[in-house]
Amino acid sequence: MKRALAVLFAGSLWTLAATGAVPADPPPVDLPPVDLPRTAPVPGGVAVVPLGPLTLPVPAVRYGKRPVMLRRDGEQWVAVVGIPLAAKAGEHHLDVSVDGRVRRVGFRVRPMQYAEQRLTIRNRRMVEPTQKDLERIWREKKIIGRSFATFSPAPPPSLRFIPPVDGRYSSPFGLRRFFNGKPRKPHSGLDIAAPEGTPIRAPAPGVVLTTGNYFFNGNTVFLDHGNGLVSMFCHMNRIDVKPGQRLARGAVLGRVGKTGRVTGPHLHWSVSLNNTRVDPGLFLSAPPVKGAPTPPVAE
Ligand SMILES: [Zn+2]
Repeated sequence: MKRALAVLFAGSLWTLAATGAVPADPPPVDLPPVDLPRTAPVPGGVAVVPLGPLTLPVPAVRYGKRPVMLRRDGEQWVAVVGIPLAAKAGEHHLDVSVDGRVRRVGFRVRPMQYAEQRLTIRNRRMVEPTQKDLERIWREKKIIGRSFATFSPAPPPSLRFIPPVDGRYSSPFGLRRFFNGKPRKPHSGLDIAAPEGTPIRAPAPGVVLTTGNYFFNGNTVFLDHGNGLVSMFCHMNRIDVKPGQRLARGAVLGRVGKTGRVTGPHLHWSVSLNNTRVDPGLFLSAPPVKGAPTPPVAE
């Protein structure tokens, strides 16, 4: 079994994969101190949990069964944890293992009440899908689930995003939604309204995981930023990338459209951390305000 080894060298940290022996000339993969996201230890938010000094070997962190992003923050390790929208407020814990020994590190989730949204969808099939639609939805759910569950070993170079579209914030994350009066899942992303054809840009560097056309999400791209941080872009009019393609921050991955379940052209952008959909706004330099324009999208 491969095991991650790390050595502290002249104050900087090098991580390398090894099978027991330390290679003579290891390719360094560093974990630089990071620009952490704005924290919000609430359901649908992100907790940054201190794990103590930079001791070695590098700890492995889990939240329930899911691997969690570990970062260096100054002279300590921190876990960057996505908290599910369905999480209960109160004490939660991480399992931190070092050399087979597991310790619990607790953190507190604060309560949060998201607003309600009531939408009228004219296409009834989008609210009450047929049996055939349900079969398609089920197949697609698996593909979507696998994409979100990705945990690639390379850490993201940055945890700060740029808005992927030049537009107006139209629907915030977390809204408790009712379609035609029927309760549905809460809004698991951030919507940005923009005319059809507006370029959609990678908010941070990443590798294209999956592309497809799905019943609810329309034309969709998944972008893997690393260490369980994954973006999903939906309702696109056109997809301009292929799986495996590496994108720099600001690279165009497609165009805004109105495919799937929509009331007008917009980008639905989901951000997933440890396979948990969290508020994308926490990764932007300023919180998104409904109706306000996004800051200009720089290359
Ligand atoms: Zn949306």
